[in-house]
This record gives sequence, C-alpha cells and structure tokens, in this order.
Amino acid sequence: MGGSGVSPCDLDREFAPQIAQLLATPPLQSAQEYYDELIRSKKHDGIRVSYSSKHGKGVCANRDFAEEDLILKDQMVVGAQHSLNKIDCVVCSYCFCFIGSIEFQIGRRLYLQSIGASIDSTSERHCHGSDVGSSTGCSGSTNGNSNDVPQGVVMSLMDGDTSLPFTDQFRLPSVVACPGGCEGELYCSQSCADSDWDSYHSLLCTGSKTEPLRRSALQKFVQHANGTNDIFLVAAKAITFTLLRYKKLKRQPASHESSFSLLMEAWKPLSMGFKKRWWECVALPEDIDSSEEDSFRQQMRDLAFESLQLLKDAIFDPELFSLDVYGHLIGMFELNNLDLVVASPVEDYFIHIDDLPESEKEEVEKVTGLFLDALGEDYSVPCEGTAFFPLQSCMNHSCCPNARAFKRDEDKDGHAVILALKPISKGEEITISYIDEDLSYEERQAQLADYGFTCACSKCQEERPI
Ligand SMILES: [Zn+2]
Ligand SMILES: [Zn+2]
Ligand SMILES: [Zn+2]
Repeated sequence: MGGSGVSPCDLDREFAPQIAQLLATPPLQSAQEYYDELIRSKKHDGIRVSYSSKHGKGVCANRDFAEEDLILKDQMVVGAQHSLNKIDCVVCSYCFCFIGSIEFQIGRRLYLQSIGASIDSTSERHCHGSDVGSSTGCSGSTNGNSNDVPQGVVMSLMDGDTSLPFTDQFRLPSVVACPGGCEGELYCSQSCADSDWDSYHSLLCTGSKTEPLRRSALQKFVQHANGTNDIFLVAAKAITFTLLRYKKLKRQPASHESSFSLLMEAWKPLSMGFKKRWWECVALPEDIDSSEEDSFRQQMRDLAFESLQLLKDAIFDPELFSLDVYGHLIGMFELNNLDLVVASPVEDYFIHIDDLPESEKEEVEKVTGLFLDALGEDYSVPCEGTAFFPLQSCMNHSCCPNARAFKRDEDKDGHAVILALKPISKGEEITISYIDEDLSYEERQAQLADYGFTCACSKCQEERPI
C-alpha cells in the first residue's frame, strides 16, 4: 500500500490493541444509539440516520419537506478557520460569526495588508488540505492598494473612532478576548469563549496563563502547521476535544468504567467520522508523476509524524498520540467535503451601499469608495475553514440530489445548513451532491473516485455509456 510500511511511531506498536479498538468501525447498534441520541438532543426531529445493506449509513426524512424547507442546521464537532483566512476576516473562534464591527473588519484588513502580513511566509493559502505541494492558492494576493488610505485613518477604523455611513444596519457582536490571554483567538460572547476553553482551547492556548515550557512547545507546533498544512491545527483540536471530554468523564463520581472505555466514550463523536489515513487518501497533486506516488505518500506521513511529535511535546497522552490515530483524524477532515464557510457582512455592506438610490449613493461613496478600492477584489472574502459536521457527513451523494448545503441570509455562523431542493416525503433518503453535478458523466465519476466510490444514482444510470 502506498506510503505505508512500518510506522515510525513507537506508540503504534506499544499500544497496538488499544489503537486498533479506537480505529475500529463502531458496532452498528452503538452507532445507531449515538445518532438517535444526537438527533434527540439537538431536536433535529425531521431526520433520522439509518443503515441499509446497500448504501451503509444514510440520512432519511422523518417527515415531509417542501421545496426550500430547512432540513437541518448541523453543529460541528470540531473545526477551524484556515490560518491565512485570519488575515481576511475576524470571526468568533467558537461559532465563527463575524465580530467587532464593519469598521473593525475593514480597518484590520487594511492594516495587515499595509504591513504585508502573512501568517507564515512559507505557507500557501489552503483552499483544502489536499493542496499540499501545489502552488495555487484560491484567493491569491489582494489587488487593492491599502497605501491609498492614510495609516491614521486605518487605525481609527480599527479602534472604533471612525464610523462609516449605514454600518449601524450591519451591527456585529463586540469582541471578547481569550480567557487564557492569547491573541490568536477572539470570541463573539463570553459563552463562546468559555465553551471553546472547555471543549478545545484550554490545552492549546499560547497565552500568558500557560506555563512557559508548554507554551513554547505549542508555538512550535502551530508554526509548523502554518508553514506546512493547517489541517494539523484541526486535528490537534480533535485530540484536545477528546482529552477534555475524557477528563470530564473521569471526574464523574458515578463512573465505574475502566479508563480505556471512558476514552472510547469521549472519542465516540469522532469515531463515527473517519475512514482512512490521510497519507493514503490525500489526492495526488497534479504536478506529481504517478511513479513518485509512493515517495509522496511517505513524505506526507513523515510530515504528519513531525507535526505529531511537536504536539506531543505540549500535550501528552499515550493512546491518542499514535501516528495511526493522527493519520485517521487528518484523513477525516480531508475526505469529508464539508467546508466551513460564513459569508462576509463587509460584502453585504458594500452591496447595500451600491444599491442606494443614485442621489444618495454619490455622497456616501465619497466616503466608502476609498476603502472599497483599497480592499480590492477580495473585499468579499468569506470566513473559510475545515470542520467535521456529524450529521451532514452521514448524507450520501447523488448527482441528482434532493437537498443541498446552502447558507441563507440569516445563517451567520459556522453551522452547516441543509435545505430541500425539491419536495421530499417521509422515509425518502436525503442526498446532497459532493461535487458539481452539472459535470459530464466521466468527470463526475473521476471526481467521485477520490471519495472512494462509483456513483450509481439515477442520473448516472441514465448517462452511463453502454
Ligand atoms: Zn461565538
Ligand atoms: Zn487562548
Ligand atoms: Zn451519480
């Protein structure tokens, strides 16, 4: 198998039976109970997860839906904004809504642009984790010219001393700092700050409250991820999510279960999602010849091992620090085509200005035009990242789907939103398209091969060459 062979990780050997258990497909009954409980607790009574011998796991309608009906708003288990996207937009690190104000978003962006900021000079903008080794970014450098705006004006936008016309119609929640004192994470509310701290961030914070040795180890890990692939940051969050749940379960006095079974319980939400090791499933970049495939996959495995060693210096727990576990976690974020996207209110703002009646617009644009020009084409860049959505990820693909992931105007945070594309009756399977379903039959099958299946939906059956 490409890029595998003997693992360089000692823990993979030392804890082989435990790791095999962590990575085993959960038994059907336990998985069914997990989804039933998840659906009950989140009140998603319109759907159910069911298993069939033909397609395995899938999502079915539990009532009738009309076209455009909301089927599901799915809350992520773990996710993160792409490192380079942090230059473009400031969002809550827990719920991913935009924060501060329109002025703050614009001012901060122009400021970072003017000092030529990048998270790390060696890193590329990752549209998707799979573009390791490729040199094309999705948004590229900005076309604006922030030097046209005096530095003093930029600062007063950031500090809230200057307000732009009509921004009172686009109010954003004020910024709440990280309780651990780091500068990297900001929130829309104290409750988001606390939830993030309890669920993931208390083990990853590089603020002054973290002891110096651990802090510098964490900084090295983050630097490595920003310089190579920021998918490692999401994998690290998945590990801290599990560790913090595990600690909480252990503290419960009524618990008589063994430590390992508590770890299995803490791990459960993630155990439902993964399929393959990252270095085995990552798509081969176009500029790499197939004869180089083995060494490419080996390189990706070594990169993951490097990242894991750095993380281990900061947080230590034997079973979870197996390379095998890490590889599966990264692979999970790679294989689920579930991007985190939140539209920018800055875009809405400039659209609103553009839609003003001519008489009014001229005056307003005398003020706002300067900033729009300075921001350039990228004024509308949304918040982008990677996330694992527990229920959306159960939805099967169809090239003629009856539902789609689509954010409405009111969906301003990181939830995945699924809407009905056509009427769906109770009992029918709910499907979404993982790819552009308007591509030709051959192109569709080629893209779906990356997900590891051949599509046999009704459209494919009709179009299949005989
Ligand atoms: Zn929030
Ligand atoms: Zn922090
Ligand atoms: Zn199909």
